[in-house]
Amino acid sequence: MDPNCIFCRIIIGDATASIVHQDDEVIAFHDIHPAAPIHILIVPLVHIPSINQVSEENDQIIARMFRVAKQLAAKNGIDESGFRLIINSGLDANQTVFHLHLHLLGGRPMRYPMG
Ligand code: 5GP
Ligand code: ZN
Repeated sequence: MDPNCIFCRIIIGDATASIVHQDDEVIAFHDIHPAAPIHILIVPLVHIPSINQVSEENDQIIARMFRVAKQLAAKNGIDESGFRLIINSGLDANQTVFHLHLHLLGGRPMRYPMG
């Protein structure tokens, strides 16, 4: 828990978010500035700043993030139409919140090429 981290504050209920899933390892809520019709953030409950700090002891959490993404894609009706999962890491990737999170984007054709 980092009191200066907006996602930690959402996790402890200190800041509000439109929460769509919560379990013993992850929380998921709508992105405040959606970049697509469906834009959900899947966030571990523990404060891991980025992929760079992930270790073997986080294997279960990382797997849970992806399985919850799959569940939320189906729940939002974009599993068949398609969706994109993104993890930004560091400044070149425009990471702005330094608490690991997986973006689930869908509801329209994604732009390509990436990058
Ligand atoms: P990043 O650029 O770090 O990969 O993504 C951070 C995301 O968090 C952005 O898409 C941004 O809109 C979202 N975000 C930042 N602050 C808040 C907030 O207070 N509440 C919610 N729901 N999303 C936020
Ligand atoms: Zn945090």
